[in-house]
Amino acid sequence: MSASAPAAPITQDVLTIPRKQDGDALPNLIGMTRDQLTEALTNVGIAEKQVKMRHGQIWQWLYVKGVKSFDHMTNLSKDIRNKLAENFVILRPEIVTKQVSTDGTRKYLLRIQGGHEVEAVYIPETDRGTLCISSQVGCTLTCSFCHTGTQKLVRNLTVAEIVGQILVARDDLEEWDIAPGEKRLVSNIVLMGMGEPLYNTDNVRDAMKIAMDDSGIALSRRRITLSTSGIVPEIYRVGEEIGCMLAISFHATTDDVRDTLVPINRKHKIAELLQACRDYPRLSNAERITFEYVMLKDVNDSDEDARRLVKLIEGIPAKINLIPFNPWPGAPYERSSNNRIHKFADIVNEAGYSSPIRRPRGEDIMAACGQLKSATERARKSRAQMERGIEGL
Ligand code: SAH
Ligand code: SF4
Repeated sequence: MSASAPAAPITQDVLTIPRKQDGDALPNLIGMTRDQLTEALTNVGIAEKQVKMRHGQIWQWLYVKGVKSFDHMTNLSKDIRNKLAENFVILRPEIVTKQVSTDGTRKYLLRIQGGHEVEAVYIPETDRGTLCISSQVGCTLTCSFCHTGTQKLVRNLTVAEIVGQILVARDDLEEWDIAPGEKRLVSNIVLMGMGEPLYNTDNVRDAMKIAMDDSGIALSRRRITLSTSGIVPEIYRVGEEIGCMLAISFHATTDDVRDTLVPINRKHKIAELLQACRDYPRLSNAERITFEYVMLKDVNDSDEDARRLVKLIEGIPAKINLIPFNPWPGAPYERSSNNRIHKFADIVNEAGYSSPIRRPRGEDIMAACGQLKSATERARKSRAQMERGIEGL
């Protein structure tokens, strides 16, 4: 899309979820691990022989039915409901704005504690619906092609804030209480929003455990993909402690180029990163690593790059996701031409790797990969553009 393309129509609502007055002081049941929930129920005096059953019921209300109030937990006695309401809250991030792209992509701007903002993006497709969630406010890393990378790290998201993004999307899509096996709107999760998930591994792990729990949200580990810029020691932990699918923001085929595009490469070089990929558990044709490769004109998009890429990943069950660069105001790069991207894809494909070219989604609402950045930050820099809902496209 050129800079002069007309603005696509956008719908925008503002929704707010009322907060409990004492909400900040009481612990949130959302985001507690199973063990933490057991402990919390025991601590508020629920009889030991009842804890297991109540625990199961509450988990169902929170993650199968999606209730936001203890009053709705109708299979619990009034006494227990009161006790829960006195001691806990059920809190999700608050939707500040929701933008719906002409292609159906929905971008949620969410407010979390401290007044910070993060974004989550829902991408509907014919065979699936993918929710792209954030793991940090901003990012400590400074990949030179990424808009989020220009925003300083504010803080890591809590488990509740990570899981909360799934809950908020399902609220908005009215997708609660679905039968097992029923087609889902949110069928896949990708940790590809704001932030580096492997600088917040513990919280990401606990949140994904909640998302994968069979008695709750029940997403298969194969429907969750974690994308990392390459924090090598943490990749080993993902394999052991989460077991989800892995995506690597690869983007370059020499250490020199990768050092400038993805600066964490100065610490963990390509060879070390690829070794972690080779060691990733359960790799097979059915469980491949996705290598993400942003196509930057005259930087990393030559035929030699394509050939080096397939040589580097030789032997790793892999898919190469080619991402046409998504521009943002002031970005120092241009998107490779369509011809170049296709030529690159052909070389990768001929070497036996699937090389889909990612169709940018939600571009009109700045929801595409690498365009996420909190609105407060963006507003400072570009209020007029943001209000139109497009930026420099
Ligand atoms: N921090 C993690 C996950 C978030 S970024 C990571 O780096 O993997 C999600 C994906 O979007 C990454 O592959 C990232 O490299 C890519 N990306 C970032 N900025 C982009 C841009 N401007 N255009 C296209 N892809 C971009
Ligand atoms: Fe952070 Fe990922 Fe962006 Fe790099 S690409 S700055 S790791 S969000």
